[in-house]
Amino acid sequence: MGLLEGKNALIFGLANDRSIAWGITQAMRAQGARIGLSYAGEALERRVRPLAESIGCTFVEECDVSKDDAIQSVAEKAALEFGKIDILVHSIAFANRDELTGPFYNTSRAGFHLALDISTYSFVALARAFQPFMPRGSAMVCMTYHGSVKVAPHYNVMGVAKAALEASTRYLAYDLGPQGVRVNAISAGPIRTLAAAGVSGFKDMLRAFADMSPLRENVTTQDVGNAAVFLCSDMAAHTTGEVFYVDSGYNIMGVAGPEEKV
Ligand code: NAP
Repeated sequence: MGLLEGKNALIFGLANDRSIAWGITQAMRAQGARIGLSYAGEALERRVRPLAESIGCTFVEECDVSKDDAIQSVAEKAALEFGKIDILVHSIAFANRDELTGPFYNTSRAGFHLALDISTYSFVALARAFQPFMPRGSAMVCMTYHGSVKVAPHYNVMGVAKAALEASTRYLAYDLGPQGVRVNAISAGPIRTLAAAGVSGFKDMLRAFADMSPLRENVTTQDVGNAAVFLCSDMAAHTTGEVFYVDSGYNIMGVAGPEEKV
């Protein structure tokens, strides 16, 4: 029997088959979860529908998470379709390309607001809309990156957004703990996806990561998916408010070893 048998999972942030959301979808499906998917806008539908069909998923909803009414409408539709939601996955981020290059002090006010609205506040908004439909034993998970606590050149405002996302995870975990709902974040190492392509110097980041991490390997969307399965399963029944690293151990390093060329 799969770890997520009998659980319904709503996954936000699927763009294509390279998305972390897709790695999570496949891992959760493999462990018996019934899946519902959400994507950002019409432009993605052409890619998302065939992926959904490939796993027999019929609940596929567009939702621009910068709009509260769109979030509310998906939450209500999901509740109607599934009866209850046991797992909520937030795998969404956005910043203007201009903000992900050059000095951080050039971040515009509008760009700062946009990045934090879509990458951070949307998790709070989704949690609020979905929590009435989430029974005891449910779990929420969001995706973060180590640029929240250490400087990753060019990650800029996204690092600030991820710091706020991790803090939001802790506050949500506190709020929802009494109703038996757990909230965690997964901090993934760099993975080549659509969103990652927007960070200037991403290729160098990927190379340095594989050179310096203790396991000397990059991580995959499957690795993140497996971690999400664990965190959203009953195996993690008393884990909440955590930032769970899936990064080949990169975050424990202070200085590169003499043999690493970083
Ligand atoms: P991705 O495939 O591009 O996924 C990002 C998703 O966010 C896309 O589906 C994107 O849709 C969606 N999104 C953007 N604005 C939205 C909006 N207003 N409403 C709804 N959805 C919106 O890239 P990914 O790497 O898998 O990113 C998923 C998460 O993992 C993000 O939180 C990211 O920061 C995090 N993460 C990524 C890495 C990495 O190296 N790839 C590492 C650590 C953490 P559009 O394509 O339409 O914008």
